[in-house]
Order: sequence, then structure tokens, then C-alpha cells
Amino acid sequence: MNLSGFIHSLRCSLLHIECRLLQAAGLDRHLAPALAVSGHSLLPQLRPQEEQEEQPPGLMDSIMWMAAPKKRRTIEVNRTRRRAVEKLIKIKTNIEPCLECGHLKQKHVLCGFCYAKVRRETTLIRQQIQVMEGGPLKAPAVETIVLYEGETPSQQDKDKRIVEKPSKRPAWFS
Ligand SMILES: [Zn+2]
Repeated sequence: MNLSGFIHSLRCSLLHIECRLLQAAGLDRHLAPALAVSGHSLLPQLRPQEEQEEQPPGLMDSIMWMAAPKKRRTIEVNRTRRRAVEKLIKIKTNIEPCLECGHLKQKHVLCGFCYAKVRRETTLIRQQIQVMEGGPLKAPAVETIVLYEGETPSQQDKDKRIVEKPSKRPAWFS
């Protein structure tokens, strides 16, 4: 196949695709071009009678023959497949109440409610430390301990930085 024949075939398949797309979109009427410029055309022009007589094989033709079911499957067969035992949601047997708060949680997994509680408390402590330091990169190089209301530092905590909280220590916070 020479070059002009290839271009002709390409042009035909592009027209074919455009026709299919217009049919699919429901715009199956003749659309006038928005801008028409008169001039010499490089591509070979299609003659109308030639186009109707024989359409050269387009690029899309082979793609249209995709795998398709040969017989309709009944709704009963479909539902049996969809509701098969292996597709059902598994019943969990590893659920137990949390020993601290009593909410249900998965075994061997941290309790989400307790975790959120501790996070809230540590956020408050962090905020207080931020206020004490007065800015970033001013943290001392010593260890920090948190003392709640009514607590006194022990002998071994003498050299550590002490963050005092004006509230009572929560029972679960150690
Ligand atoms: Zn809990």
C-alpha cells in the first residue's frame, strides 16, 4: 500500500469513527463546519458515490468484535452467584469489651476511645509546654515530667523539668 492509499484508509476510518460517535451521542445529522477555508487540499478527497459503494476496512472494525455473552443468564443464576457463601460478609468473633472503658473493640487492637482520650490529654500537656517554652527550638536538654494537682516531685525527679497541670490526674493516665 502506498502513502496516498494509507492516508485514504486513515481518513475513511476517522470519518467512520466520527459517524459512530455522532450516532452514539444522538447528533446524527449533518453538521456544518464552523470555519471553512478555501484552498488546495493535500489529502485525497472522497467522492460521494465511491464512499457509498465500498467502504474500506476501518481501524475500528476489528475492535467491535469483542467477547460477548452468547446466552442470557437468568436472574436466578445471577442472584445465586452474587449471594454465594464466599461473598457474604464474614461474622467477626474477635470482638471483646475494653477492660478500661467497656466499649467494644477488636482483640489485640488498641481501644479507639481510650486512645482518643489519651491523645486529648497529651495535646493539652503539649500546649502547656509550648506556652512555657515561648517558641520553637527552646526545649531544654533534660527530661520532662508532668505533675498534676496535689503531686510532689520525688527525689529522682529533682533534675528534670517539671510541667505542672492545674487539674487532677485522670485515673487512666499514668
Ligand atoms: Zn477503651
